[in-house]
Amino acid sequence: MSENVARTRVDLHRDHSDFGELARSIVEALPGHIWSTDPIGHLTYINPSMREYFGIGSPEEGVDWPSRVHQDDYQAVAAKWRQCLETGGIFVSEHRLRDAAGRHRWFRTEGRPSKDTLDRIVAWHGQNVDIEDRKAAEEELRARTVELSLLIDMVPSHLWRLTPDGATTLVNKRMADFLGLDLSEVGSLETAMNTIFHPDDVEGVGAELTHCLETGERFSMRYRLLRADGAYRWMSGRAEPLRDQDGNIVQWFGLCHDIEDQVQTTAALRRSAEKLAEATQAANLSQLSASIAHEINQPLAAIAADSDACVRWLSANPPNVERGKLAAARITDDVVAVTDVIARIRALFQHKPQARTIEDVNHLIGEVLSLMADEIAAATTRIDTELDLNLPLVLLDRVQVQQVLVNLIRNGIQAMDSTNPMPVLKIKSDRGGLNTVGISVEDAGRGFGDPDRVFEPFFTTKSTGMGMGLPICRSIVESHGGRLWVKNNEAVGATVAFTLPIGASS
Ligand code: ADP
Repeated sequence: MSENVARTRVDLHRDHSDFGELARSIVEALPGHIWSTDPIGHLTYINPSMREYFGIGSPEEGVDWPSRVHQDDYQAVAAKWRQCLETGGIFVSEHRLRDAAGRHRWFRTEGRPSKDTLDRIVAWHGQNVDIEDRKAAEEELRARTVELSLLIDMVPSHLWRLTPDGATTLVNKRMADFLGLDLSEVGSLETAMNTIFHPDDVEGVGAELTHCLETGERFSMRYRLLRADGAYRWMSGRAEPLRDQDGNIVQWFGLCHDIEDQVQTTAALRRSAEKLAEATQAANLSQLSASIAHEINQPLAAIAADSDACVRWLSANPPNVERGKLAAARITDDVVAVTDVIARIRALFQHKPQARTIEDVNHLIGEVLSLMADEIAAATTRIDTELDLNLPLVLLDRVQVQQVLVNLIRNGIQAMDSTNPMPVLKIKSDRGGLNTVGISVEDAGRGFGDPDRVFEPFFTTKSTGMGMGLPICRSIVESHGGRLWVKNNEAVGATVAFTLPIGASS
């Protein structure tokens, strides 16, 4: 390196004693366009690469600017150049110049006046830099931006953008129309965003959004938004952070779509399903109790009568032991009859075995969660899932296992109702043991008051409860060869967990 510098110095002394000559030879060799004019703007010099571009022999030949500058740019360039000649200001312009073959390319021209010791302009020197590629890239970017904003407005969803600290900086046209916002008043956006949520959802959405902004976790929630006509509509909203190369969040992009119709349909369906279930339950229960009463009353009446008779025969003088024995034998028969009735009732509660299929437990959990989406949203419960994605498949009765999951999730949600401002229900699946998969539902509710009694049929602490949920869940799991148990968490809430055997077929 230092050797090169030294050699350059030597050459400079030997070959270019005149610096002007050196400068000229550099300028002549440069690939960019270099030019000079006299003080009133007549070209006095253009370097070879500029001559070559325009296809002209010498500066004297001149450049016919009106035909060289693109006609759409010419007026502006000429006016600017005239003004600089008058004021001595620096000339800067971007315009298209036509080459020898008649093609236009974009150039950025910059010219500066050169002054003598009396501050008089003696010449102008300048350069034209080819910026065709930059212009093409800019044009492509502009076209892309237009295309993107068109797309953003056409997407049949509401799109929005937030700063890392949660200020709204954009909503697409569809969302602005929905909210009745005038997009020209971007200032009003922020105020509007504070008033568009249903009063019952404001707190939940606010807490979740703050949590996501703080942690960078994805936002996903259902909430009601106020439409321009004053009606609230259910929305399903999501937002993801956009990060720079260092992982810092630059902004958040959100999307939400109207699920009001879907929510209404599901709610209507659920109402009719509940009515049907209530009706069936009531009918079953009253039928069942009538038949239990009928079946048991008869042998009980007979037992009462026989024991009276037995007492009478044995108290007679002398006691009639033979008749007494007969009466006692009839009592034994009646007791067997009552035991039979009880056995039949228990059989009623046992589930008819259905065809079992090989299932992915995680998939079943997903199905149940979407089935219960509205119930979960209505309770503003957040569901966190921790699913082991490498679980083996399990042979099971999908309806029954879904029924177990529905029951446990519903119990968990109900246990947190009104006791927890931000209820979170954790659903986990894992390889429970060597030959089992484990599933657990963990809530942050009030916990089991009496964990030992919850599997007793008809044990309930709820005013509308039946107390059959957990016993049925346990019997379903056990009929699959698994185990179901409950426990109170160390800190807060309860966990209900069960296992299902993997079995030979998985
Ligand atoms: P029900 O829900 O009709 O009461 P269950 O058999 O499902 O019937 O539950 C029995 C009782 O167990 C409930 O009434 C409640 O007291 C208690 N329980 C069930 N799940 C939970 C839970 N996740 N947290 C606290 N208590 C619970």
